[in-house]
Amino acid sequence: MKWVYDSFNLLGIEFTLNLQDMIKTNFEQYIVKIKRMLQQWERRPLTPIGKITVPKTLVVPMLNHLFISLPNPDETYMKLLNTMFFQFIWGKKTEKVKRSVITGNYEQGGLKMLDLFDFIASLKCTWIKRIYQTDNIYAPLLQAIFDRDVISYIFTFGNAYLDKLIKDCSNCFWKDVLVSWKLVLTRLLERKSIISVEPIWYNDNFKIGGKPVFIRKWFNKGVKIVSDFLENNRILTKEEFEQKFSLQNCCALTFYGIRNSIKHRLMNKTHNDVLEITSHPFLPQAIELLIKHSKGCRDFYQTLYKPATRMTNEKKWNAKSNFDVHWKDVYKNCFETTKDTKLQWFQYRIIHRLLPIKSYLKTIGIENDDVCSLCGVAREDISHTFFQCAYSKKIWEELKAYIFNRTNKNITFNEKCILFGYPTNPNSPINFVILCTKFYIYKSFKKKECMRLSSLINYIKDQFIIEKFNALKKLNLTNFEKKWENWSEMFEFN
Ligand SMILES: [Zn+2]
Repeated sequence: MKWVYDSFNLLGIEFTLNLQDMIKTNFEQYIVKIKRMLQQWERRPLTPIGKITVPKTLVVPMLNHLFISLPNPDETYMKLLNTMFFQFIWGKKTEKVKRSVITGNYEQGGLKMLDLFDFIASLKCTWIKRIYQTDNIYAPLLQAIFDRDVISYIFTFGNAYLDKLIKDCSNCFWKDVLVSWKLVLTRLLERKSIISVEPIWYNDNFKIGGKPVFIRKWFNKGVKIVSDFLENNRILTKEEFEQKFSLQNCCALTFYGIRNSIKHRLMNKTHNDVLEITSHPFLPQAIELLIKHSKGCRDFYQTLYKPATRMTNEKKWNAKSNFDVHWKDVYKNCFETTKDTKLQWFQYRIIHRLLPIKSYLKTIGIENDDVCSLCGVAREDISHTFFQCAYSKKIWEELKAYIFNRTNKNITFNEKCILFGYPTNPNSPINFVILCTKFYIYKSFKKKECMRLSSLINYIKDQFIIEKFNALKKLNLTNFEKKWENWSEMFEFN
């Protein structure tokens, strides 16, 4: 520990007399460091897929201990950090994929870019987990702040209870923790909810007169979750409910208010999951999240993630062609076919219609015309480049004949398979061959060069060797060889 005049440093955190100053000092010292770090990485020729790992695995982990133990820095700081990351990924040019898309998982069309705001919130939520799992150590902290027993209620009531606490909370660190936990809880109730185990009290999903409810008398008799109002796959009547909980003369207005809101929510077709499980005990989902054994904040982060609602690329593809495309497979395919990020990024740009071929370059004002670089008779768009152009058609036919001669396999190269791969077996060698061929075609278009089967095969073979080397590095050679065993003749040269 090093003492100076009015501050000291302990476990990597600078302590000062004023909390606001402390937040500022601790976070701001990293900005220059991070800037320098990103500048160093900028010089390397990385694809956005490679670049994404830099903020994720090198930059943000430097700040983790601050996000966990200090109140959040103000929003301008977080926005600045976020902007630095996205500028780094896109090389200070326009962001070509929406942030809500790029932060998604692979099968959602994303690149697993870190959502900084969700990440910070999920780190804060680890405190809720600590409180739940070890309540004799941390719970008194929270009890002291609120001057009453709030712990058991946090885990019994719905998200609106947290609003009450947040309003009363004068400690800005715990306020951030509660706000973050509320976010998680709200997303949980919004999306993945199993209605029967949802808390009935202080839950925004069950309001009377626009307000969430709490009836202490009923609560004391054990009424806690939705399934308390259900039996044998139906909602109880007032009399049955009173009998079940030995209550007398329940307020009819309140009972039917709650009953209606439950009914309303059950009628919603997206929640047709529920009624069967009412007969046996079931943990509320929030609690399930807290007792999961996975370390860190991953479960919170995944709960917070909101998939993008509009995928513009899907819309454009659907408008242009009548392929029956299963997008999840297409997105996954892109990352399962190869481990080479250059090829993954190439395929990602095909799927998201971002490949810099002439029609695209003309739309963004870089090229004057969009006439095909090779045949000169049609518009150079993605379909033309990879399939319709006479030159490309010819190379696919030659490849088909070559594969048939070598391996006796009769492969159909139609437009959909060429663009998106064979979806049923994303890891199959044929998808790798298709991807390499597309890349070869793309390079030939760029260089305005004639395509030759022999140089294509050489290219595929080179890529195959790289792929094999990667498998070797990851000690995955047995799987790799098994995958390719029926294709070995493909590269045997005379
Ligand atoms: Zn052409």
